[in-house]
Amino acid sequence: MSREIRIYNTLTRQKKIFKPIVKNYVGMYVCGPTVYGDPHLGHARPGITFDVVFRYLQHSDYKVRYVRNITDAGHLENDADEGEDKIAKKARLEQLEPMEIVQFYTLSYHKAMAELNCLAPSIEPRATGHIIEQIEMVKQILENGFAYEINGSVYLDVNKYNEKYPYGILSGRNLEDALEGTRALDGQSEKKSGVDFAIWKKANPEHIMRWPSPWGKGFPGWHMECSAMSEKYLGKIFDIHGGGMDLVFPHHEAEIAQSNACNNCNPVNYWMHNNMITVDGKKMGKSLGNFINLEEFFTGSHAKLERAYTPMTIRFFILQAHYRSTVDFSNEALQAAEKGFNKLMTAMETLQKLSASESSTYNVNELEDKCYAAMDDDFNTPILIAHLFDGVRIINSAKDGKESLSSTDLEKLKNIFNAFVTDILGFISAKENSGHNLSNEIMELVLKLRANAKTNKDFDSADLIRDELNKLNIQVKDSRDGSSWELKK
Ligand code: ZN
Repeated sequence: MSREIRIYNTLTRQKKIFKPIVKNYVGMYVCGPTVYGDPHLGHARPGITFDVVFRYLQHSDYKVRYVRNITDAGHLENDADEGEDKIAKKARLEQLEPMEIVQFYTLSYHKAMAELNCLAPSIEPRATGHIIEQIEMVKQILENGFAYEINGSVYLDVNKYNEKYPYGILSGRNLEDALEGTRALDGQSEKKSGVDFAIWKKANPEHIMRWPSPWGKGFPGWHMECSAMSEKYLGKIFDIHGGGMDLVFPHHEAEIAQSNACNNCNPVNYWMHNNMITVDGKKMGKSLGNFINLEEFFTGSHAKLERAYTPMTIRFFILQAHYRSTVDFSNEALQAAEKGFNKLMTAMETLQKLSASESSTYNVNELEDKCYAAMDDDFNTPILIAHLFDGVRIINSAKDGKESLSSTDLEKLKNIFNAFVTDILGFISAKENSGHNLSNEIMELVLKLRANAKTNKDFDSADLIRDELNKLNIQVKDSRDGSSWELKK
Protein backbone atom coordinates (compact mmCIF):
# COMPACT_ATOMS: atom_id res chain seq x y z
CA MET A 1 0.00 0.00 0.00
CA SER A 2 1.46 3.33 -1.02
CA ARG A 3 -0.32 5.36 1.65
CA GLU A 4 1.63 6.60 4.62
CA ILE A 5 0.23 7.14 8.11
CA ARG A 6 1.61 10.04 10.11
CA ILE A 7 1.55 9.72 13.89
CA TYR A 8 2.16 12.42 16.48
CA ASN A 9 4.77 11.16 18.92
CA THR A 10 4.53 12.56 22.46
CA LEU A 11 8.24 11.83 22.91
CA THR A 12 9.56 13.80 19.91
CA ARG A 13 6.60 16.23 19.86
CA GLN A 14 6.48 15.73 16.10
CA LYS A 15 4.18 14.15 13.58
CA LYS A 16 6.16 11.65 11.53
CA ILE A 17 5.47 8.94 8.98
CA PHE A 18 4.89 5.69 10.83
CA LYS A 19 7.50 3.00 10.17
CA PRO A 20 7.10 -0.23 12.12
CA ILE A 21 10.17 -2.16 13.29
CA VAL A 22 9.16 -5.20 11.24
CA LYS A 23 7.52 -4.47 7.89
CA ASN A 24 3.73 -4.94 7.95
CA TYR A 25 3.70 -5.91 11.64
CA VAL A 26 2.79 -3.57 14.49
CA GLY A 27 3.23 -4.12 18.21
CA MET A 28 0.95 -1.87 20.23
CA TYR A 29 0.65 -1.69 24.02
CA VAL A 30 -2.07 0.33 25.74
CA CYS A 31 -2.40 0.81 29.49
CA GLY A 32 -5.67 -0.79 30.53
CA PRO A 33 -7.92 -0.35 33.56
CA THR A 34 -7.26 -0.86 37.24
CA VAL A 35 -10.19 -3.12 38.02
CA TYR A 36 -11.64 -1.87 41.29
CA GLY A 37 -14.61 0.23 40.13
CA ASP A 38 -17.30 0.66 37.49
CA PRO A 39 -16.06 1.54 34.01
CA HIS A 40 -16.58 5.25 33.31
CA LEU A 41 -15.83 7.92 30.71
CA GLY A 42 -12.15 7.84 31.61
CA HIS A 43 -12.10 4.24 30.34
CA ALA A 44 -14.23 4.94 27.27
CA ARG A 45 -11.88 7.45 25.69
CA PRO A 46 -8.63 5.43 25.53
CA GLY A 47 -10.72 2.32 24.77
CA ILE A 48 -12.29 3.99 21.72
CA THR A 49 -9.20 5.96 20.66
CA PHE A 50 -6.93 2.93 20.44
CA ASP A 51 -9.71 0.77 19.05
CA VAL A 52 -9.80 3.11 16.04
CA VAL A 53 -5.99 3.03 15.77
CA PHE A 54 -6.13 -0.80 15.92
CA ARG A 55 -8.90 -0.92 13.31
CA TYR A 56 -7.22 1.56 10.95
CA LEU A 57 -3.82 -0.14 11.09
CA GLN A 58 -5.50 -3.46 10.30
CA HIS A 59 -7.47 -1.82 7.49
CA SER A 60 -4.11 -0.58 6.17
CA ASP A 61 -2.92 -4.20 5.91
CA TYR A 62 -0.80 -4.29 9.05
CA LYS A 63 -0.88 -7.33 11.28
CA VAL A 64 -1.31 -5.80 14.73
CA ARG A 65 -0.58 -7.39 18.08
CA TYR A 66 -2.59 -5.21 20.44
CA VAL A 67 -1.76 -5.77 24.10
CA ARG A 68 -3.89 -4.09 26.77
CA ASN A 69 -3.23 -4.98 30.38
CA ILE A 70 -5.51 -5.45 33.36
CA THR A 71 -4.05 -3.89 36.49
CA ASP A 72 -5.14 -6.30 39.18
CA ALA A 73 -2.30 -5.95 41.64
CA GLY A 74 -3.73 -2.52 42.24
CA HIS A 75 -2.32 0.92 42.31
CA LEU A 76 -1.48 2.33 45.66
CA GLU A 77 -3.61 5.18 46.86
CA ASN A 78 -1.31 8.03 45.94
CA ASP A 79 1.39 8.85 43.45
CA ALA A 80 4.10 8.61 46.06
CA ASP A 81 3.55 4.83 46.18
CA GLU A 82 2.11 5.05 49.65
CA GLY A 83 -1.10 3.85 51.22
CA GLU A 84 -3.23 0.82 50.68
CA ASP A 85 -3.63 -1.18 47.48
CA LYS A 86 -6.90 0.06 45.93
CA ILE A 87 -8.17 -3.42 45.04
CA ALA A 88 -7.26 -4.84 48.46
CA LYS A 89 -9.02 -1.90 50.12
CA LYS A 90 -12.22 -2.51 48.19
CA ALA A 91 -11.98 -6.24 49.00
CA ARG A 92 -11.61 -5.44 52.70
CA LEU A 93 -14.58 -3.05 52.70
CA GLU A 94 -16.82 -5.49 50.85
CA GLN A 95 -15.49 -8.59 52.63
CA LEU A 96 -14.51 -10.29 49.39
CA GLU A 97 -11.36 -11.87 48.03
CA PRO A 98 -9.34 -9.33 46.01
CA MET A 99 -9.70 -11.67 43.01
CA GLU A 100 -13.50 -11.49 43.33
CA ILE A 101 -13.26 -7.71 43.01
CA VAL A 102 -10.92 -8.14 40.04
CA GLN A 103 -13.20 -10.64 38.31
CA PHE A 104 -16.33 -8.57 38.85
CA TYR A 105 -14.88 -5.34 37.46
CA THR A 106 -12.97 -7.05 34.66
CA LEU A 107 -16.28 -8.48 33.43
CA SER A 108 -18.04 -5.11 33.69
CA TYR A 109 -15.15 -3.47 31.83
CA HIS A 110 -15.38 -6.08 29.05
CA LYS A 111 -19.14 -5.59 28.85
CA ALA A 112 -18.82 -1.80 28.57
CA MET A 113 -16.09 -2.10 25.90
CA ALA A 114 -18.25 -4.53 23.91
CA GLU A 115 -21.23 -2.16 24.12
CA LEU A 116 -19.00 0.63 22.79
CA ASN A 117 -18.09 -1.80 19.99
CA CYS A 118 -14.37 -1.81 20.87
CA LEU A 119 -12.65 -4.89 19.50
CA ALA A 120 -10.98 -7.13 22.06
CA PRO A 121 -7.19 -6.76 22.17
CA SER A 122 -4.97 -9.62 20.95
CA ILE A 123 -3.60 -10.23 24.44
CA GLU A 124 -4.94 -8.98 27.78
CA PRO A 125 -2.29 -9.82 30.36
CA ARG A 126 -2.83 -9.36 34.09
CA ALA A 127 -0.27 -7.91 36.47
CA THR A 128 -0.77 -10.73 38.99
CA GLY A 129 -0.04 -13.28 36.25
CA HIS A 130 3.37 -11.72 35.60
CA ILE A 131 4.95 -11.38 39.03
CA ILE A 132 7.92 -13.57 38.05
CA GLU A 133 8.70 -11.42 35.00
CA GLN A 134 8.51 -8.29 37.14
CA ILE A 135 10.84 -9.75 39.77
CA GLU A 136 13.32 -10.70 37.03
CA MET A 137 13.29 -7.15 35.75
CA VAL A 138 13.84 -5.70 39.24
CA LYS A 139 16.78 -8.10 39.70
CA GLN A 140 18.35 -6.95 36.44
CA ILE A 141 17.92 -3.26 37.28
CA LEU A 142 19.61 -3.89 40.66
CA GLU A 143 22.42 -5.76 38.93
CA ASN A 144 22.89 -2.87 36.49
CA GLY A 145 23.31 -0.54 39.46
CA PHE A 146 20.28 1.68 38.86
CA ALA A 147 18.33 0.63 41.94
CA TYR A 148 18.88 0.03 45.65
CA GLU A 149 17.24 -2.16 48.22
CA ILE A 150 16.20 -0.83 51.59
CA ASN A 151 14.08 -2.63 54.24
CA GLY A 152 12.70 -5.14 51.72
CA SER A 153 11.73 -2.52 49.12
CA VAL A 154 13.60 -1.74 45.91
CA TYR A 155 13.70 1.79 44.49
CA LEU A 156 14.88 3.06 41.14
CA ASP A 157 17.72 5.48 41.81
CA VAL A 158 16.61 8.34 39.58
CA ASN A 159 19.66 10.54 40.21
CA LYS A 160 22.01 7.69 39.30
CA TYR A 161 19.86 6.93 36.26
CA ASN A 162 19.92 10.56 35.20
CA GLU A 163 23.73 10.47 35.00
CA LYS A 164 23.49 8.08 32.07
CA TYR A 165 20.02 8.64 30.60
CA PRO A 166 18.06 11.88 30.61
CA TYR A 167 15.15 11.48 33.03
CA GLY A 168 11.91 13.21 32.07
CA ILE A 169 12.23 13.06 28.26
CA LEU A 170 8.58 12.16 27.74
CA SER A 171 6.93 14.65 30.08
CA GLY A 172 9.52 17.37 29.59
CA ARG A 173 10.03 17.56 33.35
CA ASN A 174 13.54 17.80 34.64
CA LEU A 175 14.70 16.37 37.94
CA GLU A 176 14.03 19.60 39.85
CA ASP A 177 10.44 19.77 38.53
CA ALA A 178 9.85 16.15 39.45
CA LEU A 179 11.34 16.67 42.90
CA GLU A 180 9.15 19.72 43.44
CA GLY A 181 6.07 17.57 42.96
CA THR A 182 7.06 14.92 45.47
CA ARG A 183 8.82 16.82 48.25
CA ALA A 184 5.73 17.58 50.29
CA LEU A 185 4.51 13.99 50.24
CA ASP A 186 7.72 12.35 51.36
CA GLY A 187 8.52 13.75 54.76
CA GLN A 188 10.26 10.78 56.34
CA SER A 189 10.63 8.45 53.40
CA GLU A 190 13.24 5.71 53.32
CA LYS A 191 14.05 6.68 49.74
CA LYS A 192 17.38 8.37 48.98
CA SER A 193 15.55 11.03 46.99
CA GLY A 194 11.93 12.10 46.54
CA VAL A 195 12.13 11.37 42.81
CA ASP A 196 13.05 7.71 43.34
CA PHE A 197 10.15 5.34 42.83
CA ALA A 198 9.41 1.85 44.07
CA ILE A 199 9.90 -1.01 41.63
CA TRP A 200 9.27 -3.52 44.43
CA LYS A 201 7.51 -2.78 47.72
CA LYS A 202 7.74 -4.64 50.99
CA ALA A 203 4.28 -5.76 52.12
CA ASN A 204 3.13 -4.50 55.49
CA PRO A 205 1.44 -7.17 57.64
CA GLU A 206 -2.03 -5.96 56.62
CA HIS A 207 -1.21 -5.98 52.91
CA ILE A 208 -2.92 -9.13 51.61
CA MET A 209 -1.73 -9.11 48.00
CA ARG A 210 1.87 -10.25 48.43
CA TRP A 211 4.38 -12.52 46.76
CA PRO A 212 7.72 -14.00 47.80
CA SER A 213 10.79 -12.36 46.27
CA PRO A 214 14.56 -12.20 46.87
CA TRP A 215 13.81 -9.14 49.08
CA GLY A 216 11.10 -10.77 51.16
CA LYS A 217 7.33 -10.77 50.79
CA GLY A 218 6.09 -7.86 48.77
CA PHE A 219 4.47 -6.67 45.58
CA PRO A 220 5.63 -4.91 42.41
CA GLY A 221 5.60 -1.13 42.04
CA TRP A 222 2.76 0.09 39.83
CA HIS A 223 4.92 1.05 36.83
CA MET A 224 6.70 -2.30 36.71
CA GLU A 225 3.86 -4.38 35.28
CA CYS A 226 3.66 -2.47 31.98
CA SER A 227 7.44 -2.66 31.43
CA ALA A 228 7.52 -6.39 32.13
CA MET A 229 4.41 -7.33 30.15
CA SER A 230 5.15 -5.15 27.11
CA GLU A 231 8.63 -6.67 26.91
CA LYS A 232 7.27 -10.18 27.28
CA TYR A 233 4.72 -9.89 24.48
CA LEU A 234 6.19 -7.22 22.18
CA GLY A 235 9.94 -7.28 22.80
CA LYS A 236 12.45 -4.90 24.35
CA ILE A 237 11.64 -2.27 21.71
CA PHE A 238 8.20 -2.05 20.14
CA ASP A 239 6.22 0.27 17.89
CA ILE A 240 3.37 2.02 19.70
CA HIS A 241 2.58 2.64 23.37
CA GLY A 242 -0.70 4.35 24.15
CA GLY A 243 -2.67 5.60 27.08
CA GLY A 244 -4.36 8.65 28.57
CA MET A 245 -2.40 11.89 28.90
CA ASP A 246 -2.63 11.61 32.69
CA LEU A 247 -0.27 8.61 32.47
CA VAL A 248 2.62 10.51 30.86
CA PHE A 249 3.98 11.35 34.30
CA PRO A 250 4.89 9.48 36.36
CA HIS A 251 3.73 6.17 34.84
CA HIS A 252 5.12 6.27 31.29
CA GLU A 253 8.18 8.25 32.31
CA ALA A 254 8.90 5.48 34.82
CA GLU A 255 8.39 2.80 32.15
CA ILE A 256 11.06 4.47 29.99
CA ALA A 257 13.45 4.64 32.94
CA GLN A 258 12.85 0.99 33.90
CA SER A 259 13.50 -0.26 30.36
CA ASN A 260 16.65 1.80 29.96
CA ALA A 261 17.87 0.73 33.39
CA CYS A 262 17.14 -2.94 32.63
CA ASN A 263 17.79 -3.33 28.90
CA ASN A 264 19.79 -0.24 28.00
CA CYS A 265 17.24 0.78 25.41
CA ASN A 266 14.26 3.07 24.98
CA PRO A 267 11.28 0.73 24.83
CA VAL A 268 8.91 2.59 22.52
CA ASN A 269 9.17 4.21 19.09
CA TYR A 270 5.83 6.05 19.10
CA TRP A 271 4.17 7.28 22.28
CA MET A 272 0.50 8.18 21.73
CA HIS A 273 -1.70 9.87 24.35
CA ASN A 274 -5.38 10.68 24.26
CA ASN A 275 -6.50 13.89 25.93
CA MET A 276 -8.84 14.09 28.90
CA ILE A 277 -12.60 14.31 29.29
CA THR A 278 -14.45 17.00 31.21
CA VAL A 279 -18.13 17.09 32.22
CA ASP A 280 -19.85 20.48 31.89
CA GLY A 281 -16.42 22.08 31.64
CA LYS A 282 -15.13 20.54 34.85
CA LYS A 283 -12.73 17.72 35.55
CA MET A 284 -14.56 14.52 36.50
CA GLY A 285 -14.44 13.79 40.18
CA LYS A 286 -16.46 11.84 42.71
CA SER A 287 -16.60 14.87 45.02
CA LEU A 288 -17.89 17.14 42.21
CA GLY A 289 -20.95 14.97 41.62
CA ASN A 290 -20.16 14.77 37.90
CA PHE A 291 -18.57 11.34 37.96
CA ILE A 292 -20.80 9.35 35.61
CA ASN A 293 -20.12 5.71 34.90
CA LEU A 294 -20.89 4.18 31.52
CA GLU A 295 -23.87 2.14 32.65
CA GLU A 296 -25.43 5.36 33.99
CA PHE A 297 -25.03 6.94 30.54
CA PHE A 298 -26.62 3.93 28.88
CA THR A 299 -29.60 3.93 31.28
CA GLY A 300 -29.84 7.66 32.03
CA SER A 301 -29.75 7.00 35.77
CA HIS A 302 -27.64 9.93 36.97
CA ALA A 303 -28.81 13.32 38.23
CA LYS A 304 -26.66 15.12 35.63
CA LEU A 305 -28.25 13.27 32.72
CA GLU A 306 -31.52 14.43 31.15
CA ARG A 307 -31.97 10.95 29.70
CA ALA A 308 -30.15 7.83 28.50
CA TYR A 309 -27.58 7.92 25.69
CA THR A 310 -26.69 4.88 23.63
CA PRO A 311 -23.14 3.53 23.54
CA MET A 312 -22.95 4.58 19.88
CA THR A 313 -23.84 8.17 20.78
CA ILE A 314 -20.95 8.16 23.27
CA ARG A 315 -18.64 6.63 20.65
CA PHE A 316 -19.70 9.14 17.99
CA PHE A 317 -19.30 12.02 20.42
CA ILE A 318 -15.78 10.96 21.41
CA LEU A 319 -14.70 10.46 17.78
CA GLN A 320 -16.09 13.85 16.77
CA ALA A 321 -13.05 15.30 18.53
CA HIS A 322 -9.46 14.54 17.65
CA TYR A 323 -7.95 12.21 20.24
CA ARG A 324 -5.41 14.86 21.26
CA SER A 325 -8.13 17.47 21.95
CA THR A 326 -10.19 17.67 25.11
CA VAL A 327 -13.81 16.54 25.06
CA ASP A 328 -16.48 18.17 27.18
CA PHE A 329 -19.62 16.18 27.96
CA SER A 330 -22.96 17.96 28.36
CA ASN A 331 -26.54 16.98 27.61
CA GLU A 332 -26.73 19.46 24.72
CA ALA A 333 -23.52 18.17 23.15
CA LEU A 334 -24.64 14.54 23.51
CA GLN A 335 -28.03 15.27 21.98
CA ALA A 336 -26.35 16.97 19.03
CA ALA A 337 -24.05 13.95 18.64
CA GLU A 338 -27.06 11.65 18.72
CA LYS A 339 -28.68 13.62 15.89
CA GLY A 340 -25.48 13.48 13.87
CA PHE A 341 -25.06 9.76 14.44
CA ASN A 342 -28.66 9.01 13.45
CA LYS A 343 -28.30 11.11 10.31
CA LEU A 344 -25.20 9.16 9.33
CA MET A 345 -26.80 5.77 9.95
CA THR A 346 -29.99 6.74 8.10
CA ALA A 347 -27.85 7.73 5.11
CA MET A 348 -26.15 4.30 5.31
CA GLU A 349 -29.59 2.68 4.94
CA THR A 350 -30.63 5.04 2.14
CA LEU A 351 -27.40 4.28 0.30
CA GLN A 352 -28.29 0.59 0.07
CA LYS A 353 -31.57 1.46 -1.66
CA LEU A 354 -30.26 4.01 -4.18
CA SER A 355 -30.49 3.11 -7.85
CA ALA A 356 -27.70 3.87 -10.28
CA SER A 357 -27.83 6.39 -13.12
CA GLU A 358 -26.05 6.58 -16.46
CA SER A 359 -23.39 8.93 -15.17
CA SER A 360 -22.26 10.66 -11.98
CA THR A 361 -22.54 14.27 -10.92
CA TYR A 362 -20.20 13.68 -7.98
CA ASN A 363 -16.56 12.67 -7.68
CA VAL A 364 -16.55 9.60 -5.44
CA ASN A 365 -12.80 9.00 -5.84
CA GLU A 366 -12.09 12.41 -4.43
CA LEU A 367 -14.21 11.62 -1.36
CA GLU A 368 -12.26 8.40 -0.82
CA ASP A 369 -8.92 10.20 -1.08
CA LYS A 370 -10.05 12.80 1.44
CA CYS A 371 -11.21 10.12 3.90
CA TYR A 372 -7.86 8.34 3.74
CA ALA A 373 -5.96 11.62 3.96
CA ALA A 374 -7.82 12.48 7.18
CA MET A 375 -7.06 9.15 8.85
CA ASP A 376 -3.45 9.15 7.58
CA ASP A 377 -3.01 12.50 9.31
CA ASP A 378 -2.68 11.18 12.87
CA PHE A 379 -6.09 9.47 12.88
CA ASN A 380 -8.06 12.68 12.37
CA THR A 381 -11.54 11.32 12.97
CA PRO A 382 -13.38 14.70 13.15
CA ILE A 383 -12.15 15.60 9.66
CA LEU A 384 -13.06 12.11 8.44
CA ILE A 385 -16.57 12.49 9.87
CA ALA A 386 -16.91 15.89 8.15
CA HIS A 387 -16.01 14.27 4.78
CA LEU A 388 -18.46 11.45 5.42
CA PHE A 389 -21.18 14.06 5.96
CA ASP A 390 -20.32 15.39 2.52
CA GLY A 391 -21.17 11.90 1.34
CA VAL A 392 -24.38 11.97 3.40
CA ARG A 393 -25.43 15.15 1.59
CA ILE A 394 -24.84 13.47 -1.79
CA ILE A 395 -26.74 10.33 -0.73
CA ASN A 396 -29.74 12.40 0.33
CA SER A 397 -29.62 14.50 -2.85
CA ALA A 398 -29.35 11.36 -4.99
CA LYS A 399 -32.44 10.00 -3.25
CA ASP A 400 -34.30 13.20 -4.22
CA GLY A 401 -33.00 12.94 -7.78
CA LYS A 402 -30.84 16.07 -7.48
CA GLU A 403 -27.55 14.21 -7.87
CA SER A 404 -26.80 11.06 -9.80
CA LEU A 405 -24.28 8.23 -9.40
CA SER A 406 -23.16 5.69 -11.99
CA SER A 407 -23.32 2.03 -10.96
CA THR A 408 -19.52 1.93 -10.50
CA ASP A 409 -19.58 5.05 -8.35
CA LEU A 410 -22.56 3.83 -6.36
CA GLU A 411 -20.71 0.60 -5.54
CA LYS A 412 -17.62 2.60 -4.64
CA LEU A 413 -19.62 4.89 -2.36
CA LYS A 414 -21.06 1.85 -0.58
CA ASN A 415 -17.55 0.48 -0.11
CA ILE A 416 -16.31 3.80 1.29
CA PHE A 417 -19.16 3.98 3.81
CA ASN A 418 -18.75 0.35 4.82
CA ALA A 419 -15.01 0.77 5.28
CA PHE A 420 -14.96 4.07 7.13
CA VAL A 421 -18.23 4.06 9.05
CA THR A 422 -18.44 0.39 10.00
CA ASP A 423 -14.92 -1.07 9.90
CA ILE A 424 -12.78 1.91 10.90
CA LEU A 425 -14.95 4.18 13.04
CA GLY A 426 -16.71 1.09 14.40
CA PHE A 427 -20.25 2.52 14.24
CA ILE A 428 -23.10 0.06 14.22
CA SER A 429 -26.78 0.82 13.96
CA ALA A 430 -28.88 1.13 17.09
CA LYS A 431 -30.75 -2.06 16.15
CA GLU A 432 -27.57 -4.14 16.09
CA ASN A 433 -26.20 -2.52 19.22
CA SER A 434 -29.19 -2.70 21.51
CA GLY A 435 -29.67 -6.47 21.51
CA HIS A 436 -29.98 -6.62 25.26
CA ASN A 437 -32.17 -3.54 25.71
CA LEU A 438 -34.31 -4.50 22.77
CA SER A 439 -35.11 -7.94 24.20
CA ASN A 440 -36.07 -6.25 27.48
CA GLU A 441 -38.39 -3.90 25.63
CA ILE A 442 -39.94 -6.70 23.60
CA MET A 443 -40.55 -8.73 26.75
CA GLU A 444 -42.25 -5.72 28.35
CA LEU A 445 -44.51 -5.58 25.31
CA VAL A 446 -45.29 -9.31 25.44
CA LEU A 447 -46.20 -9.08 29.13
CA LYS A 448 -48.39 -6.05 28.44
CA LEU A 449 -50.28 -7.96 25.72
CA ARG A 450 -50.76 -10.87 28.12
CA ALA A 451 -52.05 -8.56 30.87
CA ASN A 452 -54.48 -7.06 28.33
CA ALA A 453 -55.70 -10.52 27.37
CA LYS A 454 -56.35 -11.30 31.03
CA THR A 455 -58.25 -8.05 31.52
CA ASN A 456 -60.42 -9.01 28.55
CA LYS A 457 -60.93 -12.47 30.10
CA ASP A 458 -59.14 -14.03 27.15
CA PHE A 459 -57.42 -16.60 29.36
CA ASP A 460 -56.61 -18.91 26.44
CA SER A 461 -54.35 -16.27 24.89
CA ALA A 462 -52.78 -15.41 28.25
CA ASP A 463 -51.96 -19.07 28.88
CA LEU A 464 -50.68 -19.56 25.35
CA ILE A 465 -48.22 -16.68 25.80
CA ARG A 466 -47.04 -18.09 29.14
CA ASP A 467 -46.62 -21.64 27.76
CA GLU A 468 -44.82 -20.56 24.59
CA LEU A 469 -42.41 -18.39 26.61
CA ASN A 470 -41.87 -21.35 28.90
CA LYS A 471 -40.73 -23.40 25.91
CA LEU A 472 -38.16 -20.65 25.23
CA ASN A 473 -36.87 -21.05 28.80
CA ILE A 474 -38.49 -17.81 29.87
CA GLN A 475 -40.47 -18.05 33.07
CA VAL A 476 -43.34 -15.65 33.65
CA LYS A 477 -44.07 -14.89 37.27
CA ASP A 478 -47.43 -13.47 38.27
CA SER A 479 -47.88 -11.50 41.44
CA ARG A 480 -50.32 -8.96 42.82
CA ASP A 481 -48.22 -6.13 41.32
CA GLY A 482 -48.29 -7.61 37.82
CA SER A 483 -46.05 -9.98 35.91
CA SER A 484 -42.32 -10.24 35.57
CA TRP A 485 -40.05 -12.63 33.72
CA GLU A 486 -36.73 -14.34 34.12
CA LEU A 487 -34.59 -16.80 32.24
CA LYS A 488 -34.84 -20.30 33.72
CA LYS A 489 -31.55 -21.61 35.06
ZN1 ZN B 1 0.72 1.10 32.05
